[in-house]
Amino acid sequence: PSEAARYRERTPRSAALMAEAVRHLPGGDTRSTLFYPPYPLFIKHGEGCWLTDVDGHRLLDLSSNHTALVHGNRNPGVLAAVADQLTHGSCFPGPSATQVELAGLIHGRIPSVERLRFTNSGTEATLNAVRAARAFTGRGRFAKMEGGYHGSQDPMMVSTHPDPAAAGPLDCPRAVPSSLGLAPGTLEEVLVLPFNAVAETRALIEAHADGLAAVIVEPVQGSAGMIPAEPAFLAMLREVTAAHGILLIFDEVVCFRLAPGGAQAWYGIRPDLTCLGKMIGGGFPLGVFGGRADVMAQFDPREQVPRVPHPGSLNANPVSLRAGISALEQLDAGACDRINRLGERLRAGLQSLFDAHRLSARVTGAGSLFGIHFTGAPVRSYREVMGADPGRRHTLFLGLLNEGVMLDPRGAGCVSTAMGETEVERFLAATRRVLERIDL
Ligand code: PLP
Repeated sequence: PSEAARYRERTPRSAALMAEAVRHLPGGDTRSTLFYPPYPLFIKHGEGCWLTDVDGHRLLDLSSNHTALVHGNRNPGVLAAVADQLTHGSCFPGPSATQVELAGLIHGRIPSVERLRFTNSGTEATLNAVRAARAFTGRGRFAKMEGGYHGSQDPMMVSTHPDPAAAGPLDCPRAVPSSLGLAPGTLEEVLVLPFNAVAETRALIEAHADGLAAVIVEPVQGSAGMIPAEPAFLAMLREVTAAHGILLIFDEVVCFRLAPGGAQAWYGIRPDLTCLGKMIGGGFPLGVFGGRADVMAQFDPREQVPRVPHPGSLNANPVSLRAGISALEQLDAGACDRINRLGERLRAGLQSLFDAHRLSARVTGAGSLFGIHFTGAPVRSYREVMGADPGRRHTLFLGLLNEGVMLDPRGAGCVSTAMGETEVERFLAATRRVLERIDL
C-alpha cells in the first residue's frame, strides 16, 4: 500500500474529526501551516518528546510545535510556573513584577536588547519592530529576504515562498505576494533581497538605501527549511546597514535557541533590533521586540504621548511570562550545547542515510534545527530549493508519521531538551525503515 493508504488505515479517528472540523473551520483548523493531505493527525496529548494522537498512536515529536516547545511537552518547570501564576490570576490592568523579571533576564542574555516590549506573537513583534524603524528613520520602505518568514501581517506576506516562474533574477528578486488580499501598495514598500548572496544583496541595499528604514533577516531561515545565513552575509548586512543609517533587525523567533545569548551571540553580530517568539513563551503566546534604547524610547509614554503607541489587552500576559521565565532559565549554556550536539548527530546521520540510499536530498540546519530538501545541489537559500518537488518530501513525511515520527509538514524539525541520544537514534532508525520501504 502507498504511505497515504497506510496513513488512512491507521488514523480513522483523525479522519472522522477532520470530516466534522471542516463543517466549522475552513480546512479544519486555524493554522494554515498545519494542514497536509489527506488530513492532519489530531493530537490529544503531549509528554516530553512524545505525542499521542486521537487514535492512540505515540509519535516522537521532532516538531516541538514548530520549535516553540524547546523543552518538549508538559515540561514540569513550565507547568509549575503556570499553575502558580493561575493562583494569582491570568491578566491584570497594571504592569507586573513578572514582566520586569523576564525583561531583565532577556536583557541580561542579549546585550543588544537594551529595552524591550512584550507582544502575543512573533507576528506582532516583527510588525512593531518595523514600525519602530520607520518612525525612527523617517523612511517608508524596508527590506526582507526571499524565503524569509516573519509573520502574517501584510508587508511580511511577500516573497515567503515564491514560485520559480515569478521570483525574478537573483540580482533583483521580484516582490511576489504570498496571499491575496494584501493592501494596495504592499509590494512597493518591500525590497526583496537574495539570502546569502553577498554581492547582490549589498548592491540592492546600496541602490535603495535612501528609502530604507530597516533590513529584517532570520539568522537561520526557519520557514524556508532551516537554512543558516553564512557569517559573511550577516557581517555584510551589519556593515552596509550601519553605513546608511538603516536599522538591522534580527528575527530570532526560531533560532534564538542556538545559544544562551541567541543567534546574535552564535554569530557574534549585534543587530539594532531583535524579535523573539515561539520558545520565549515556553509554549504560551508571547513575543518580544527590543533593541537600541534610542529606538525603543519611541514607545515611552512618560513625558508625552508616545511617538509609537503599542497597546494590546493581553500584552505581557503573566501566564505566558511565567512560562517564558521557566523556559529561559532551563535553556542555559549546558542545555543549548547538549541539544546542539544532538542536532549535529541527527543531521549527519540523516545525510548519511540519504547518501546511502543514493537520494538527491540535502540536510540543512544549525545547532538543534534541521531541514530536509530534495535536491542534489548544496542548499544556501530558498532560491536553490524553490523548484524542488514537494511530493517526495511529503511522501517521506507521511512515511515517518506511519513510523511514529512527527516532523513539520515542510520537512523541518528540531531537537528538544526532552530528547537524548536514544531518541535521535530512534528517529534515524525510523527514517531508515521508511527509505527501505518506499522508493523516493
Ligand atoms: N518569525 C519567524 C522566524 C517565524 O518562524 C514565525 C512563525 O513561524 C514568526 C516570526 C511569526 O510568529 P507567530 O507565529 O508567533 O506570529
